[in-house]
Amino acid sequence: MERLQIRRHRIAVSLLLAGAGLVCLTASAVAQPGLRTVAEASGFTATSRHADVMAFLHELQRQHPRRVRLDTLATSPEGRPVPLLVVGDPAPASPADLRGDDRAVLYLQANIHGGEVEGKDALLMVVRDLLARQSDHYLDRLVLLVVPVFNADGNERISVENRAAQKGPAQGVGVRANGQNLDLNRDAMKIESPEVAGLVDVLNRWDPVFFFDSHTHNGSYHQEPVTWTWGLSPNGAAAVLDYMSGTLWPAIARTMRERYKTPIIPHGDFVDPRAPEKGWVPLEPQPRYLSNYVGLRNRLSVLNEQYPYADFETRVRGCYDLVFSFLEFAHANRDAITRLVRDADRRTLARGHAPAASDGFVVEWTQEAVAERVTVEGYEMEVTDGPGGWPRVKPTDRKKTYPDLPYLAKYAPTRTVRWPRGYLIPRADPAVVAKLRQHGLLVEQLAAGATLAVEGFRVTSLKPSAQLNQGHYTNTVAGEYFEAAREFEAGTVFVSTAQRLAPLAAALLEPESDDGLLAWNFFDRALSQQWGRGPREYPVFKVHGEVAAVREAVSR
Ligand SMILES: [Zn+2]
Repeated sequence: MERLQIRRHRIAVSLLLAGAGLVCLTASAVAQPGLRTVAEASGFTATSRHADVMAFLHELQRQHPRRVRLDTLATSPEGRPVPLLVVGDPAPASPADLRGDDRAVLYLQANIHGGEVEGKDALLMVVRDLLARQSDHYLDRLVLLVVPVFNADGNERISVENRAAQKGPAQGVGVRANGQNLDLNRDAMKIESPEVAGLVDVLNRWDPVFFFDSHTHNGSYHQEPVTWTWGLSPNGAAAVLDYMSGTLWPAIARTMRERYKTPIIPHGDFVDPRAPEKGWVPLEPQPRYLSNYVGLRNRLSVLNEQYPYADFETRVRGCYDLVFSFLEFAHANRDAITRLVRDADRRTLARGHAPAASDGFVVEWTQEAVAERVTVEGYEMEVTDGPGGWPRVKPTDRKKTYPDLPYLAKYAPTRTVRWPRGYLIPRADPAVVAKLRQHGLLVEQLAAGATLAVEGFRVTSLKPSAQLNQGHYTNTVAGEYFEAAREFEAGTVFVSTAQRLAPLAAALLEPESDDGLLAWNFFDRALSQQWGRGPREYPVFKVHGEVAAVREAVSR
């Protein structure tokens, strides 16, 4: 407690000095040596609290009124504003301001897990230093949306007990969950937190071409302080996935090594620490993870993870260099990136208008190697059997190179289901309709009753998870598809796949999607049997033929 009071006192002084120093400078003064983050002012022993971030951002806005606009992404469950900084030259007042403007919008966020803090301090430094540059400042082609403290509530629960194995900052960090005890990086599909609701609203309104989410990893031991991977969902656009692994990854790795002298590897862990040569594996591809969710929306998406056993200053500076590497790349390749995502959108629309027999939604996959190989500068490891047969890994201090490992970041389909022209939901639960619309999907309804040939899903097994999962007993389902002609009343909800976010619609509505609305309990009532055994028929039907019936958009 006393330690924290001392720290806060020092920060107050640091900000005061910053303000005093600025009085002597002209409004457009370049370097602002006085404006320092808590990380810098504390000699990298402390991280910014919410109030520190707000003070820093207000000061940036005061110094750069034309290029900085402070907005609010959301109000946290405990009532804190989650700041959204809009940076541009000039900063647009709203997305409408960007019509007829060819600047690309990039979204950068940190601190989604309140104990994983270096991205927050790094993003503050990035914006400050970017604005201080008079040339080569990227803002002729880019607009940045910056959210340094996404999980404002978790960030405030600072204690030296949290993430105790992580190497600093010595004065402690916050906790993983938000004020609702939700992991915000599992909330992308169900959207139960105001923070993720705010983010999805920003994605819908601003449509950033690039998304960056900063974390600190807990995993395999290695020497590289910085790692990242891309949106991994196999239901995202193939061209975007190929671009991320084949073009963006090697380009960023080169910049980090050559310009910033920072060792970097793709985010991941050894598949099997007993046999490291088997490869390096990233997180799973489910869109509940924000980086995968944005990939499913066909946009460039980055999960950044620093290595927890690198010291705090190294992590902050590594993340800082990584963000500048992305900004440089996006600035130089703005047109190619914009074309890439527009092409992905066009192909998505074309597929929805006339799906081919080969078009499918991936429900099962296997992990394959991407072209890029990984060399991990690690340590010799002592591996013993841990609880449940899991390997327990203890690193030694003897360095060891694990060369030329396959990177198993391609989730290749082993089973797909037919890609439809759309989904019909008779007598839809308003909560389902609201959720689809919240994701930015166009939801329509039949203006008159119609008899239509559809594909349905008979549920043969519905199993809730044995343990609570983010406040849910999530469902795992099995069943059989069947074809039938059914009568649908006027008002039946229709979700077309001839829309930009169709892969997301499918991931929400396909019965076998492991991260869909069925898994997250949105259809539990509809599936409940009032009398008799087993769950009822899945209340969503796939349409493969053209739907000639008149439709109108749902706006409730
Ligand atoms: Zn994390």
